Amino acid sequence: MKRSLNDYRKIVGDEAIGKIYHKARKVYGKTVVHVNSTYYGGGVAEILSGLVPLMNDIGIAAGWRMLRGTPDFFDITKKFHNALQGNSINLSEMKKKLYVQANEDFSTYSHITHNCVIIHDPQPLPLIQYYPRKQPWVWRIHIDLSNPNEELWEFLKNFILKYDIIVISSDDYRLKDTPVDQRVIHPAIDPLSAKNMHIPEKVVAKYLKKFNIPTDKPIITQISRFDKFKDQEGLIDIFRMVKEHVDCRLVLCGSSALDDPESQQYYERTKRKANNFIKDRDVIMITSENNILVNALQRKSDVIVQKSLREGFGLTVTEALLKEKPVIASKVGGITLQIQDQENGFLLEPTDKEGFARRIVEVLKDPSLAKSLGVKAGATAKEKFLITRLLADYLDLLGDLIG
Ligand code: UDP
Repeated sequence: MKRSLNDYRKIVGDEAIGKIYHKARKVYGKTVVHVNSTYYGGGVAEILSGLVPLMNDIGIAAGWRMLRGTPDFFDITKKFHNALQGNSINLSEMKKKLYVQANEDFSTYSHITHNCVIIHDPQPLPLIQYYPRKQPWVWRIHIDLSNPNEELWEFLKNFILKYDIIVISSDDYRLKDTPVDQRVIHPAIDPLSAKNMHIPEKVVAKYLKKFNIPTDKPIITQISRFDKFKDQEGLIDIFRMVKEHVDCRLVLCGSSALDDPESQQYYERTKRKANNFIKDRDVIMITSENNILVNALQRKSDVIVQKSLREGFGLTVTEALLKEKPVIASKVGGITLQIQDQENGFLLEPTDKEGFARRIVEVLKDPSLAKSLGVKAGATAKEKFLITRLLADYLDLLGDLIG
């Protein structure tokens, strides 16, 4: 259903809404295009599906295009993604060529005449060199760039240096060796989307039943693409320790994104590792893409875990905070912007599996602790990480660039 900014009045209040309308005046009628490479399965698609319609609602002509890539293109860009998060890469000439070529091909039939172009993540980064410069180009990079592979970074800088501004998710990701303006914008979630809106208990129950998730034991959940950086395998080890103290169930929900060719392999590996638990239905692995299911699962879970090794921001954490859940997560990347240890959740070093297990057991055994963490969690999400704040930040950016 089409949403309009006024629908958020009840959630954020008239003052915040009024400010957004005010900021929008500077950019009425301007045309903006967002470009990314998938329409589902990850944080970027999630943000754009909420943000782009709202931009239109307040008077910006905002479009959203998807770079089309072949499977080998996405193989390469997934390797880039991993290398930008610190992995090594064999950066062959062939890889560089295929990467750039897909962008050149897309540019031949994708005319860009907008007042501002916003490129999301590395996949469409080279597009900038196939258009005459007529407007500001923004590179909105959503991942943790604090430790990129040097060789790849050198190569990507050929494109990055051409951008007018880079938008990063955290001050910790500021690029010291890159003389391009940089601005921090924290991501956000849409409280009215199917994934986050309030749903009655009977809908929650219906969805859990539909996906065959029994509710006779406490539920621990992690919702993430199957990906080594999300470390579902590590979570199985943790679950094994938790099971020694509390009889519970682990749900791993993770559809794969179009632009993520590695995830099938990782899924199979995790499944083998959880084999015995899966037979007993104590570990349940789900690969359907279903927003209401994610919503229902987050609401029904007793604990939400995010065991990532790296995390650009971690919208799944925000989604769980908004639903007033106790979240136990790795002290990495953007998660540290959202959780303050022992205040509105628990943070642990990703290597500290025992620590994770201890905290999970603690929360499962103490409902009042779960409740008090959850209440503070909800307040954090509402105060800092809703889409209305994100929209306001984008309006400031656009106001500065094209206002
Ligand atoms: N997501 C989903 N279904 C899944 C796995 C993930 O809808 O099976 C969503 C999740 O709810 C969140 C987004 O994908 O909105 C993931 O964003 P996040 O920032 O946590 O991680 P990313 O995938 O971008 O690394």
